[in-house]
Amino acid sequence: MVKIGLEIHCQLTKLESKLFCPCKADYRSFEPNTNICPVCIGLPGSLPRLNQKAIEKGTLISLALNCKIPEKISFFRKNYFYPDLPKNYQITQFDAYGHTSIGNNGKITIEGKEIRITRIQLEEDPGRLIYEGTSEKNKITLVDYNRAGTPLVEVVTEPDFENPKQVRVFMNILVDLLENLGVSEPSLEGAVRADGNVSIEGGNKVEIKNVGSFHDLEKAVHFEITRQQSLVERGIPIELETRQWDDRRKITVSARSKEEEQDYRYFLEGDIPWILLDPKYVDQFKQNMPESIASKRDRYIEQFKIPAQVADVLSSDKFYSDLFELAHNEKNAKEVANIITTDLMGFVDTKEKRQQSKLTSKHLSDLANAIINNTITRNSSKSALQEIVKTGKSLNEIITELDLGHVSDEFELSAVIEKVINEESIAVKEIKEKPETVNFLVGKVMKKTKGKADPSLTLELLKKKLKIY
Ligand SMILES: [Zn+2]
Repeated sequence: MVKIGLEIHCQLTKLESKLFCPCKADYRSFEPNTNICPVCIGLPGSLPRLNQKAIEKGTLISLALNCKIPEKISFFRKNYFYPDLPKNYQITQFDAYGHTSIGNNGKITIEGKEIRITRIQLEEDPGRLIYEGTSEKNKITLVDYNRAGTPLVEVVTEPDFENPKQVRVFMNILVDLLENLGVSEPSLEGAVRADGNVSIEGGNKVEIKNVGSFHDLEKAVHFEITRQQSLVERGIPIELETRQWDDRRKITVSARSKEEEQDYRYFLEGDIPWILLDPKYVDQFKQNMPESIASKRDRYIEQFKIPAQVADVLSSDKFYSDLFELAHNEKNAKEVANIITTDLMGFVDTKEKRQQSKLTSKHLSDLANAIINNTITRNSSKSALQEIVKTGKSLNEIITELDLGHVSDEFELSAVIEKVINEESIAVKEIKEKPETVNFLVGKVMKKTKGKADPSLTLELLKKKLKIY
C-alpha cells in the first residue's frame, strides 16, 4: 500500500509587502540584497510587524480548501541554522496549543477521492542561496536576502494519495484554485514548491525535498515509490530520511537522516501577539469569496450550453475566464468561449505573450458578434484575432486593412463559382454520380476567396448552377 502526503509552499505573490516588514513581496526584479531591511535580515532589536493582508489571503485559501478557521492564531519560531535564514529561526505557525494555524481540517475531492488537508499555515520564505563555480575547490555560495521574509502559505495534506497521478491532479487543481483566488501567480518561477512524503507497505516515511517545480513532483514521487519497492523486494529496510530531488538526473538522492520535529525547538513568537479572528470577520470573507472554478464550469454549461470540455478549460484558467466574463453576453457566450479556447489560447500561450497582447474584452466581443452576424467567416476570424493581439487595432480597421470581409455578395460570389466550374471540369462531371463532390468545389471557392466566402451561400449557388437538388 502506497501512502503519499504533500507539503506545498505557495508564495502570496499578489501582496505588496513581505510578511513582517515593508520590503517588497515581489523580490524578483531587485539587485541582490537591495530589497532588505533590519527586520528581514534579523538585526538585533528589530521587531516584526504582521502584514494584515497576508492574514486575509490565508483565510481565503483556508476557506477555499474547506478548512476550519480558529478564533485565535499564533506564530512560532522554528529554530535552525542555515545561511539562508538570517535570524536563525523562521517565523511560522505550529499547532502546539491546539489549532492555532490559519486553517485546519480541510478537504478537497479529486476524481472522486477525498484528500484531507491537515492544516494551512502562514510563514516567511528564507533567502536564496546561489551556488557558483564548478570544481570543488572554487565552489562558492552566494546569499541573497531579497526573498527573506516573503509571505508564504504552506498547505499540508494527510497521506491520502495512493499514486503519483493523484498528486499531479491535486497540484493542478490547487494551482488553479490559488490563481482563481487572486492570491498567487503559480507560473512565476519558485512561486509554488512542494515536498512529498512517501511510504510503502507501512514502512518508514521518506521525505522528498527541493522539488523546484510542481511539475516534477509527480516524477519525484514515482521514482521514490519504485526505489522503495525494489528495496522491499530485496529485503532491505527503508530508512527514515530526507532525500533531495536531483532535477538533472531525475532521481532522488539521500540528503540527511530525518530530524524529529522537536529538533526545531519551536516556541511561541513573543514579538507577535495572538491574533483574534472574529467569526464575523471570517463570515465576511465567506460571503465575498470569488466564484469557485467548479461553480463557473457548471454555470457555463448550464447557462450558455457550452460543451463540458470547453467549459473545463475556460473555467480553470483565471486569465481566460476573466476575459470571458467581460466579453460575453447571453447571445455570443458560446462563440466567445469558442474563440478563446480554439484560437486565442494558441496565440497567447505564455505569460510574456499574455502581457504583450493588445486584445481587450471588447475586441473579443466584437469578433464573436461579427462571426454570428456573418460579417466575417470563422476562417478569417483567426487572422483577425492574431492581428488584434499584435496591434490592438479595432476589428473594423483590421477587416478593411487585411480585406477580411465576408464575401456574401451573390454577384461577386457567382463570378468565382463560374471560374471554379470551368477549371474543375472533371469534378463537375463526377457530380452526377457522386453528389458529395460538391464539397470539393466549395473548398475550391473558399480557397480562391481566401476563406472569405460564405460557405452556405456558396453551396446553395453551386447547387443551383449545377442543377443538383
Ligand atoms: Zn524587510
